[in-house]
Amino acid sequence: MASYKEKEIENLIEGFEQVCRSMGLRVTHQRLEIFREMAKYPGHPTAENVFGRVRKRLKTISLDTVYRTIALFEKNGLVRRVQMLDNSARFDTNLSIHHHLICTRCKSIEDFYWPDFDQMRLPSSAIRWGDIYSRHIEVRGLCKNCKKAHKE
Ligand SMILES: [Zn+2]
Ligand SMILES: [Zn+2]
Repeated sequence: MASYKEKEIENLIEGFEQVCRSMGLRVTHQRLEIFREMAKYPGHPTAENVFGRVRKRLKTISLDTVYRTIALFEKNGLVRRVQMLDNSARFDTNLSIHHHLICTRCKSIEDFYWPDFDQMRLPSSAIRWGDIYSRHIEVRGLCKNCKKAHKE
């Protein structure tokens, strides 16, 4: 029996294949492997993280190919770039509306959902500012693991 996480990854891959087809992008073995590793990676990988994993199965792949493939995914809305304070690009395969819990020590990024916030009316100062496309909350702090390590 597939675990919840495996099921979630299978759904993401299915969605990926659908979007590729609808955009006329070929679903090559290489693209599929790269996307799968991105979806499986806990906590929003960098291109280097993805390369490190994909390379185990695709021996001849280069980091440059991984960069270019992720850039192609990003351009077509298949993954989203997460902006971090230290300017390292991290990528998100979860395209549903969600927010991030960011640990400033281990740099982990976890998703969380906040439907109440998503439905909340923005203050008039924000509405007056211009056209709003999306809103995103970043909660920064020390994660449980780092907090524990810090105490010991
Ligand atoms: Zn941490
Ligand atoms: Zn996320």
